[in-house]
Amino acid sequence: MTDPSHAGSLLTIDVAAIVANWRLISQGVTPAEAAAVVKADSYGLGAEHIAPALAAAGCKTFVVATLDEGIALRSVVPAAVILVLNGPFPGTEAEFAAHSLVPVLNSLGQITAWANFAKAGSGAPAAAIHIDTGMNRLGLDEAELDRLAARPSVLAGVRPILALSHLACADERNNPMNEEQHMLFTRLAARLPAMPLSLSASSGCFLGRNYHFDLVRPGAALYGINPTPDRPNPMAQVVRLQGKILQVRDVDSPRSVGYGATYRVTGPGRIATVAVGYADGWFRSLGNRGHGMIGGVKVPLVGRVSMDLACFDVSAVPPSQAHPGALIDLIDPDFTVDDAAADAGTIGYEILTALGRRHHRRWLTGAEEAQT
Ligand SMILES: *Cc1c(COP(=O)(O)O)cnc(C)c1O
Repeated sequence: MTDPSHAGSLLTIDVAAIVANWRLISQGVTPAEAAAVVKADSYGLGAEHIAPALAAAGCKTFVVATLDEGIALRSVVPAAVILVLNGPFPGTEAEFAAHSLVPVLNSLGQITAWANFAKAGSGAPAAAIHIDTGMNRLGLDEAELDRLAARPSVLAGVRPILALSHLACADERNNPMNEEQHMLFTRLAARLPAMPLSLSASSGCFLGRNYHFDLVRPGAALYGINPTPDRPNPMAQVVRLQGKILQVRDVDSPRSVGYGATYRVTGPGRIATVAVGYADGWFRSLGNRGHGMIGGVKVPLVGRVSMDLACFDVSAVPPSQAHPGALIDLIDPDFTVDDAAADAGTIGYEILTALGRRHHRRWLTGAEEAQT
């Protein structure tokens, strides 16, 4: 953990807001269950801080991507169901069972390996089965489900507790693919023994009741990313990223800023150099496109982002607010992770998961005094 006075940037993660976001979704999908997707270390925000708070709020099922994420999570939420989306690589089945992790079986190969592993032990450990309905990424297609149905002994050895699929276009409410995948999921799941079903991630939770099935799997929405991009964001903001100003310089034309001299100063003004760069996840694609906020004023990022530094034109901000040591907000409730992602030409998911290791991180649980 870096000392905040040493660090060039402060990352504040509002765990109470994450819990509130989970509750909002959970209440919206009742009687379906809301899991919490905490893969990639809770989208880069710290699963060991976030998952226990969600468990305390009543979340019973957590979703990660990899075996190691599952093993790490097991020690912080000992009683939870933990689904591992990627399923087992050959030979790792015993480690899933040892940590009571539920693998998502994504192919006939994974299913057969799990059944063989279960046969060798005492009683089949629980697993989930992934049905592909249009992503063509992981999961069994219709022909593979037929082959599985023809070998009921394999399935009996697997003890499936959930069948899931994943929507490709759920963030586009009117995309006809949503309804197509919904129909295919219902039709294909009927080839399996009756078991709980799960189709929706964050955006699917907002497509209406019939998309909820028995379990929903929100991730991004918990962390403040808008699951309904064509409408106002129903989720609370979670992340505040503040960069520290290292120096402020007076400039005038004909000067330029940064590598490649891509920004040309057009007149008298002030440039603040901030201790955040692409090594901190402040993407190079933000060069001459990004923004920050100082005292409620939106200031443009000028020149290229370098590894450890980025420059902002702070001419519109009084020197009393833009001075060495002052903070510039790079993500905050008024300039959200989605806003930063739009500047960078990416999605909020990538901004969050790229947040670097040099930020001084703080997790707010709601018990602290308000900080400015
Ligand atoms: C990542 C993922 C989720 C969560 O998606 P969000 O859009 O972040 O809510 C759910 N299910 C699967 C299979 C995933 O890969």
